[in-house]
Amino acid sequence: MQWTYTPSRSPTAKVQRRVVQWRRACTAEVAPDRPVITFTFDDFPKAALNGADVLEKHGGRGGFYACTSMMGMRSPVMGEMFDANTLAELRHRGHEIGAHSHTHLDCARARLEKIERDIGENLVTLSEAGHHETVSAFAFPYGETSYPAKRWVGDVFTTGRGILPGVNVGEVDRSQLRAVELGSSAMHRRRALAALKSCIETHGWLFFFTHDVGPSPSAYGAPVGLIEELAQRAADAGAVLAGPTLGAALCGVCD
Ligand SMILES: [Zn+2]
Repeated sequence: MQWTYTPSRSPTAKVQRRVVQWRRACTAEVAPDRPVITFTFDDFPKAALNGADVLEKHGGRGGFYACTSMMGMRSPVMGEMFDANTLAELRHRGHEIGAHSHTHLDCARARLEKIERDIGENLVTLSEAGHHETVSAFAFPYGETSYPAKRWVGDVFTTGRGILPGVNVGEVDRSQLRAVELGSSAMHRRRALAALKSCIETHGWLFFFTHDVGPSPSAYGAPVGLIEELAQRAADAGAVLAGPTLGAALCGVCD
């Protein structure tokens, strides 16, 4: 497992990222009765279950995007990663398991055939680990994607989640939904609170994403106190805390 890959920061890659972001592959209309907040955890470390505990306290559920080559491994940064028991426990507790590719593939760089094979292996490995439910949510590793990748993800999954910040409201691309990162800095907290406020005012759909959750999270993780604060504020404002596919249904993105 390669734990340290970084997507290209070249000017060409940056331009491509903007072009891909604006070219919608699967247009959908987001119009929920109540604002919907979807907390998501990528890769994912076992410490993400601390996030599940917080959501459940507020009557909510979340989404966990599983990168299957990391299953049973120990990340040098995020600690122990999920395993078959973690999947079973989350399923039992009503959370959603999503796909995140098998090898944490950069979908902006790989050819479509490679993307199809890699995500196919992701789904097969989940099923072999005892997760037999239909997997209908996907998150692009690093948020990286291409137009053909978005088209294919839109055919196979109900939702594809990226990492471009913002609230999903009105006309959106359901194969590259926006998401706001949660982390330890004051800037992360400010941005998250501003996005939550905007989502509540516009009756939109807001994804948060992070990795591990704890009192002192890794550089990729979020403090448990921040999840607590956001979940509390969202619940107080009458928002629904739902996993990606229930969120999509509540927003009218799928049946
Ligand atoms: Zn990831």
